Amino acid sequence: MSVHVGIMCDACGRVHFIATSAGIEFSRTIEGMYQLRCKRPCSFKTQFRKDEMRPYRVSDAVFERGYAEQSEYEQVQGYGKGAA
Ligand SMILES: [Zn+2]
Repeated sequence: MSVHVGIMCDACGRVHFIATSAGIEFSRTIEGMYQLRCKRPCSFKTQFRKDEMRPYRVSDAVFERGYAEQSEYEQVQGYGKGAA
C-alpha cells in the first residue's frame, strides 16, 4: 500500500490517479485546469484544479491500473492543501 494523489469522480466515487490514469489530461479550454473522463459505464466528464486533488492510500496494483473503485481506497487525512 502506498499514498498517491488522485481526483474522485463525483458521479461514481472512483478515484483516478493523476500519475497513471488514462482519463486525466490538461484542459484544452481553461489554462491550469485538468480534465477527467471517467471510465465506462460511468463516462462522467469534469474539469478540476490541481488543489482539488487529494491523497489516497491504495495497493500498488490499483495505482498502476490508474483508478480505484470505491472499496479499494482510503482517503488520507491530515495532508495540507496542495500536497501533491
Ligand atoms: Zn465516474
